[in-house]
Amino acid sequence: MIFMSEKLILDEIEKNKDKFVEFFRELLQIDSINPPGNEKNLANKIEKFLKEFKIKCDVFSYGNNRANLIAYLNDNFEGKNLLFNGHMDVVPPGSENEWKNPPLSAFVKRNKFIYGRGSTDMKGGLAAMILALTILKKLDIEISGNLILNAVADEETTGFGTEWSLENKLNTIKCDFAIVGEPTGLAPLPKALIVGERGHLLVKIVTNGISCHASMPSMGKNAIYMMGEIMQNLDKLDEYIPKTVPPIPLNKLKKLISEVFPSEEIFEKILEDQSLLQNLLLSLTQFTKVLTMIKGGIKENVVPDKCEATIDFRLLPEQIVETVISALKKLISEDLGYAIKEESGRAPGEIFVYLEIVHQSEGSYWKDWEKSAILRDFRNIVEKAYGKKPFFLLYPACADAHFLRNDGYCPQTILFGPGSANTAHATDEYIEIEDFINAIKVYTIFAYNFLK
Ligand SMILES: [Zn+2]
Repeated sequence: MIFMSEKLILDEIEKNKDKFVEFFRELLQIDSINPPGNEKNLANKIEKFLKEFKIKCDVFSYGNNRANLIAYLNDNFEGKNLLFNGHMDVVPPGSENEWKNPPLSAFVKRNKFIYGRGSTDMKGGLAAMILALTILKKLDIEISGNLILNAVADEETTGFGTEWSLENKLNTIKCDFAIVGEPTGLAPLPKALIVGERGHLLVKIVTNGISCHASMPSMGKNAIYMMGEIMQNLDKLDEYIPKTVPPIPLNKLKKLISEVFPSEEIFEKILEDQSLLQNLLLSLTQFTKVLTMIKGGIKENVVPDKCEATIDFRLLPEQIVETVISALKKLISEDLGYAIKEESGRAPGEIFVYLEIVHQSEGSYWKDWEKSAILRDFRNIVEKAYGKKPFFLLYPACADAHFLRNDGYCPQTILFGPGSANTAHATDEYIEIEDFINAIKVYTIFAYNFLK
């Protein structure tokens, strides 16, 4: 047994930087674009890599070339358990010819940046977590607890991978702390440590009217006009939905961020001309809704009998999906007088509105984060690795953390990972190599300190 120190870990990372970058690039070059996903290709690659280090690893396939993976440092689950969670899927690259380099090429620029779909969201975080596991194994560090890696499929659409892993494999393992490796950079600010996230609800509204010749519009019922009525009145939802207090009020959020500035006054000055930051703060303290898609009409001279629209709702952590749906129903049926049907099928001449929940994921929040000594340790480790003090914040979008935090499995779950949120899902997505290397340091040193 080697006597371990943080220095040994840091030396190991320093010595192998190039190899680590190569491993990360190999993950980027494997296609796991979702849809369709094909995460099994990536899971097989990770399994092979981990087995070279004699790390126990299981790949759980679930058809259509999709899979989840669970690996662990040792066989002892009786002590403290630390969970690393990272998703293997990436969003589609969009129009590939708009990319300067092919999205799966993992192009390295000036030895400083790596470009490619998933570089930030989140194969960087995933690779860093895998590497942390191998470093601890290779150095044969004396550890009393266990480090568990859960690499999951389908985060970008349903969250099925994390949900499945929890329900079928992880529920019997006590989890003392969990890290989801999503990108938590908010350049030019230092790294954020995320202790909560908003919920997400996508609702498709279909208005069904009566079609007729456009020369005699009074014969029909224009479905696009029906949709127009709903959209014009959408702000009424704010009155109908019970008020929810944001988990962290605006002033407190400002205070949390201002801690990384020399003074609150300086932060306020900077905030004045940073619209991204202003909008971020606003979104973290509010329920928001926006029309994102609309489709209607089949021909220039036909009154349309069908119109479809999708509304993207973002909920505060404690807000409940049902309250939004019932507010929407109240608006459509009581205020506007349209019948609402539970199914889309229609009889001729029937006028009604059909509502469909396309996606929902709960928000979540670690209530006691301010009292956690572990979190303070984590913060110090990040500060040391990055040379800058990180700050605590909430996430405006959603991530798989809610599966872990909610229902009591592991409320003490944070998001922390390399990459900057503003390049996630974007064309020419990239990551800074230094950020990636620093994340390996944070994951490994934190795991060592937490489990020793
Ligand atoms: Zn992600």
